[in-house]
Amino acid sequence: ISYKQLKVEDNTDIIMEGALIARDRVGVQDFVLLDSHTSEAAFLNNLRKRYQENLIYTYIGTLLVSVNPYKELDIYTVTQMQLYRGVNFFELPPHLYAIADNAYRVMCSEYNNHFILISGESGAGKTEASKKILQYYAVTCPTTEQLQVVRDRLLLSNPVLEAFGNAKTLRNDNSSRFGKYMDIQFDFKGAPVGGHILSYLIEKSRVVHQNHGERNFHIFYQLLEGGEKDLLCWLGLERNPQKYAYLIQGRCAKVFSINDKNDWKIVRKAFSIIDFTEKDLEVWKSKVHPVDGNLLLPILRAVFVSLQLLGVHLSILQEALTHRKIEARSEEVLSPLNVDLAFYARDAVAKAIYGRTFTWLVNKINGSLANKDSTRKTVIGLLDIYGFEVLDTNSFEQFCINYCNEKLQQLLIEMTLKAEQEEYEMEGIEWEPIPYFNNKIICDLVEQKHKGIISILDEECLRPGEATDLSFLEKLEEKVGDHAHFVTRKLADQKTRKSIDWVDFRLLHYAGEVTYCAVGFLEKNNDLLYRNLKEVLCNSKNGIIRDCFLLSELDSRRRPETVATQFKNSLMSLIEILMSKEPSYIRCIKPNENKEPGMFDDCLIRHQVKYLGLMEHLRVRRAGFAYRRKYEHFLQRYKSLCPATWPHWHGPAAEGVERLIKHIGYKPEEYKLGRTKIFIRFPKTLFATEDAFEIRK
Ligand code: ADP
Ligand code: MG
Repeated sequence: ISYKQLKVEDNTDIIMEGALIARDRVGVQDFVLLDSHTSEAAFLNNLRKRYQENLIYTYIGTLLVSVNPYKELDIYTVTQMQLYRGVNFFELPPHLYAIADNAYRVMCSEYNNHFILISGESGAGKTEASKKILQYYAVTCPTTEQLQVVRDRLLLSNPVLEAFGNAKTLRNDNSSRFGKYMDIQFDFKGAPVGGHILSYLIEKSRVVHQNHGERNFHIFYQLLEGGEKDLLCWLGLERNPQKYAYLIQGRCAKVFSINDKNDWKIVRKAFSIIDFTEKDLEVWKSKVHPVDGNLLLPILRAVFVSLQLLGVHLSILQEALTHRKIEARSEEVLSPLNVDLAFYARDAVAKAIYGRTFTWLVNKINGSLANKDSTRKTVIGLLDIYGFEVLDTNSFEQFCINYCNEKLQQLLIEMTLKAEQEEYEMEGIEWEPIPYFNNKIICDLVEQKHKGIISILDEECLRPGEATDLSFLEKLEEKVGDHAHFVTRKLADQKTRKSIDWVDFRLLHYAGEVTYCAVGFLEKNNDLLYRNLKEVLCNSKNGIIRDCFLLSELDSRRRPETVATQFKNSLMSLIEILMSKEPSYIRCIKPNENKEPGMFDDCLIRHQVKYLGLMEHLRVRRAGFAYRRKYEHFLQRYKSLCPATWPHWHGPAAEGVERLIKHIGYKPEEYKLGRTKIFIRFPKTLFATEDAFEIRK
């Protein structure tokens, strides 16, 4: 991979507070400068105005709001990257690159760790944003020939993970079906030297079931379309996806916007650069005994697949798929499964294998991104994670996802408040408490030990044979029924709100009400694989399968953690990771349901503004002062408005600013002077100054 290193023209002194210049035609570039900052309508107007001018980025202070353009914009070129490099945050129009560059520069100068949290609903542009930030670092950070390998691996980890972790859904042709946190590690010179990826909740149910209009994970179709002939033969596969029930349930194996054949090539190339050993690739070795797949009789094919790919004998697998081992008085008895249970067992194996090999793959990539030298490094973490989800039917998955969003919302509010408070303290300005909604109460409702919804669910999972999804619902009513954010059935009916169906429960999230259907909660939380099936896989001859199903798992009599508890724990440690770092935030918005450029669906966007917590964030940011700038920057821009500071001011910038605002007549209640910055309370003060400046020009 080579990048054109373009030279930038010498335009480093664009001190052009774009935020202010542009405000009439294309709205304000920073929502804190909106006059009626608490009005949702004004917020939407500003967003719409800008979107229609292809200005997809807007700030709320230092948070970046992005609206998916659904078309290629000319703002991601190397020239653009260079433009944003090393330039002060507010001197150029809002951009991803400004966020990326700011985090990078602070990291280099203060030698601390950062993270960039990207959130938004499916199709809003999170993954694209995270890729663009990674590219930005790949292009603009210093590197050596030696380090180029690392850079390429960082970049190429994306197509691999997307092949195995993304799928076409109704809402996004390339929807990530897992949450991803990626640390990029930098050495003391600011060169990217390594990385590490954490993945969250891969949606493995997709392996065995897809809704209408959706596909299984990309990799299957890529393999069938693009896989070399020898390889497919060796795998005993036919090119036609219609032959495979797991691939065609959504009836759309072929997608117009996706080139599976090409993507396969990229993935293969990525594999070689990510340093997979030949052993890892053994299933793909193309020269091993080519067999003509078409000649295999079905039964032979089964033997072959079972033996060659899963590394287990067919008879053993067959028995495990159709029987269940029951322990009766220290004796093991095999009891046959009925057809439904056998299908269930088959699907469970498929899901388990896919889920665990995905984790294996992430570990493998981590191995190749690991930096072995022990000098101290700083990191920038990129978090690309599912946004708040409200579907027609919300299930266990939405419950987990929305809980995750509650946690992240809490992190954002707390960190923003903390940052505001710290800035005021640092600048020696009195702190005024800000009223806001603390959603900790909802997090507690979900996660509290013994009392929270997850604990109640886990308890029910401990009563196999007795507990059902309905008994879980009853327990909920009994134990959290009077919680302020749990809508009990009785109350819902009384208040003649939409009544709650008998299999549903409803939570009041910070972003709004969500009704969950409890059907399947127990099963999904348990995520059981029959013991004898596990045994078979643990004893596989295939090294990868054996890596995924460790024998030690069989010895352990301890119950494995439930899915919800595992997720809760991994979220807790994620929050801990994030809390120790400096935050930046990107909130992505999906403008319409049709993936259409230029179409701004007010209703849809209003919802997202709400559940992305944007108004809340704006309120916190705006509570004190709408605008704050370093004295030097403020003076540099407005010095022409005062004879004492024009054309040059030779004293300290703070004094210059004091002279300047006295001259133009700021009233005491309109501003505060901190140690290094001027704080202006209302946008109109600033706009008046800006107007005077424009006339003067
Ligand atoms: P998410 O990860 O939030 O589900 P994606 O990042 O996959 O969403 O974006 C969905 C689609 O929207 C992309 O495949 C692309 O077609 C389009 N898109 C997103 N961001 C941009 C952008 N900045 N410029 C152009 N198209 C974009
Ligand atoms: Mg995504």
